[in-house]
Amino acid sequence: MATPGFCRICLQPDIEKSNKCISPCFCCGTMSKVHKTCLEKWLGQSGYNSCEICEYQYKTHRISTYTYLKSFKEWLQSTESENEMRQSLPDLFLFIVYTPLLSLVSYLGLETNEAIFRETANTTVNKIM
Ligand SMILES: [Zn+2]
Ligand SMILES: [Zn+2]
Repeated sequence: MATPGFCRICLQPDIEKSNKCISPCFCCGTMSKVHKTCLEKWLGQSGYNSCEICEYQYKTHRISTYTYLKSFKEWLQSTESENEMRQSLPDLFLFIVYTPLLSLVSYLGLETNEAIFRETANTTVNKIM
């Protein structure tokens, strides 16, 4: 087996089975490997959608904030599924209700919700396909 490479973003060796490095572009050698999660984060922060070295266009798809709101909504529904009323409410109403709610749970410092809120703070998020 080849020696493990290093993620070019976080510089951690590619040894974690749950978070294996990928080679998403034409770069080779030590610069070729990157964690998918690291790359997605970098793309989101930099605003690029291509490799800064070889200029390979990453196959990304942008996830709008609404997707996160929706997933948060679904999470709420799964935790409070007994509330039948919620299901029949129009989406716009849910949007109006959940947006301040997201801020509130973030303010309260609930860790998982805070992560969701941070994602919604970006207008769009790049995901590697
Ligand atoms: Zn990494
Ligand atoms: Zn590259």
